[in-house]
Amino acid sequence: MRTRDLVALVDKLPRKHIGFYPTPFHRLENLSAARGVSVYLKREDLAGPATISGSKTRLAEFILGRALEEGVTHVITQGAHLTNSGMQFVAACRAAGIEPVLFLTKSESRQLAEYRGNLLMSQIMAAELNFVDTPDATHWETEEAQRRQKQVLDAMTERKEALEADGHKALIVPNGGAHPYGFAAHVLTFVEMLEQAERAGAKLDYLYHTAGTGTALPGLLAAKLLTGSEVCIRSVAIVPYRDDYWMNESVIVDRVRQVFEMFGVDAPDAATIRSHIDVDQRFMGEDYAVPSAEGTTAIRELARSDAVFIGPVYTGKGFAGMLSHIDEGRIEPGSNVAFVHTGDSGNIFESAEIVGNVAGT
Ligand SMILES: *Cc1c(COP(=O)(O)O)cnc(C)c1O
Repeated sequence: MRTRDLVALVDKLPRKHIGFYPTPFHRLENLSAARGVSVYLKREDLAGPATISGSKTRLAEFILGRALEEGVTHVITQGAHLTNSGMQFVAACRAAGIEPVLFLTKSESRQLAEYRGNLLMSQIMAAELNFVDTPDATHWETEEAQRRQKQVLDAMTERKEALEADGHKALIVPNGGAHPYGFAAHVLTFVEMLEQAERAGAKLDYLYHTAGTGTALPGLLAAKLLTGSEVCIRSVAIVPYRDDYWMNESVIVDRVRQVFEMFGVDAPDAATIRSHIDVDQRFMGEDYAVPSAEGTTAIRELARSDAVFIGPVYTGKGFAGMLSHIDEGRIEPGSNVAFVHTGDSGNIFESAEIVGNVAGT
């Protein structure tokens, strides 16, 4: 399918325009020279409308677009205290005239007052904040994670029922914006990137991104399959992708199929889709939102080479994975590589416990 025809399919979906698209795409001149590989950044972190933004804003445009058509007055979503996704949904809701409601989880060891990045921005935007007394829901242990997830979901459902008893209409958006209305959004990220790379005179060999709740990958992968692009998509995970976990490759395959379905196009079989998924799980570090040595080094390297800030929870770890692939020769010298900067810059302002010793002092 030609990219123009694919964009026409996306354009049929309900959407509330909120961010500034297409997001910028540029070559990292200094890092590329140092590493012997052409590295480009796709700047989803600059999507807006908030000063600090990220990849969830695209999902929000589609989820809120449909929500507005359905008369939704309140969007309820969740995340860790430092959630990038929650902050972007609050921003998108404010832009769309919908009331934002957040349910936030935290690790016992951290004090609320310590959270000075995304949580502060959500507070300034006056989101309704609800704190659920449970550690971060993305904890690795499967049964424990499921129990906590249910606790948060029950709390959100109760709030939704209370709002609806008062005559409002509420929509619950799962962790990370994992709502089916949004999965097609990142088709556009992929298409924009192909066009921008072509204009820059580069044929992309690899596309890297940081994978968490699995909301960006389905759209990127669906777009690759629909356009027949040969770019190799590689994901660096910050949560486990395991068959017995809430996130795994089968979930991604299902979501890719949902994107095809949304466009009314027959999807490839599951095995074909699966063969295009490549997730590296070596860079998640000790746990979600615990800084890793490689992530800290990557944040410093990119800031010092090209003055771009990535974050400690997602993009620092993702970028570290890509840099390691360059070192290992998994990315051949002279290749053209795009890294999707999905955001996380707000977390630079967190305590050392979350951001690590990025200043190197
Ligand atoms: C949510 C998020 C991701 C992960 O994307 P998923 O679509 O959830 O897999 C990566 N980077 C940042 C900054 C994010 O906020």
